Amino acid sequence: MTAALAEVAARVPDSLAAYRGGVAAGPGGPGARPLAALRDPAVFDATLATFGRGICGGTVPAAIDRRALVSYWSQFYLAALATPALTALVRLGRPLPLGFERTSLELDAAGRPARLLVDPEPAGPGCGRACTAGARPGLAGLVEDHLRPFVELCCAQCGLAPRVIWGNAAVILDYVAGELGDGDAPACSEVAACLGRPGGSACARTPLAQALFPGTAGCRRRTCCLRSRLPGIPSCGALCPLEPRADA
Ligand code: SF4
Repeated sequence: MTAALAEVAARVPDSLAAYRGGVAAGPGGPGARPLAALRDPAVFDATLATFGRGICGGTVPAAIDRRALVSYWSQFYLAALATPALTALVRLGRPLPLGFERTSLELDAAGRPARLLVDPEPAGPGCGRACTAGARPGLAGLVEDHLRPFVELCCAQCGLAPRVIWGNAAVILDYVAGELGDGDAPACSEVAACLGRPGGSACARTPLAQALFPGTAGCRRRTCCLRSRLPGIPSCGALCPLEPRADA
């Protein structure tokens, strides 16, 4: 698995270099925990509390919007995920084994999602240098095996509408897909369909595909991500659905 991830990392464009190591093999450091553990409200609350203190520079105001905090936290998570996962699909035409139940999350000192950790030696047929054991193909596989349970986790922990997290995922995946450009033709076509562009696949009717407004000046959100409710966090700029645009 380590060799397969190194192969993916080598295909990440320089514009996305900050996220080249967003998926790694191994147990991770002391800040790592299985994603499934975050379903425990106590574990999730402790994670969010650290993140909130980092955002607020110390004490988290009692009145802070917990949904906005979870939405913003998810944006770091999805940024770590999107570059390696889409690079593997678009540049190499294969998925990474990112099944939610088998993946761990490593946080940085500020509680921000830093890396997703996969099993270095997943068992199953076809293992080896380019092991994708247990991974369903395409972005549709990532949607069903990882993004859907992640959205359910976030929403269960704060009452957020699922479309907010789907919108966060779509924004990041759309940006990464644009930076990656052309690659494996069937994979590019499938990714485009899953992101709501013309095409047609099982993924095209998912909340991910319906999360963005297309536009000649680029996509933008259909649903506010709430991040500007947090102290000191900048707005979404041209992605904001409330921002007037000539191509609306
Ligand atoms: S900039 Fe727009 S989308 Fe982003 S949080 Fe503010 S209102 Fe919501």
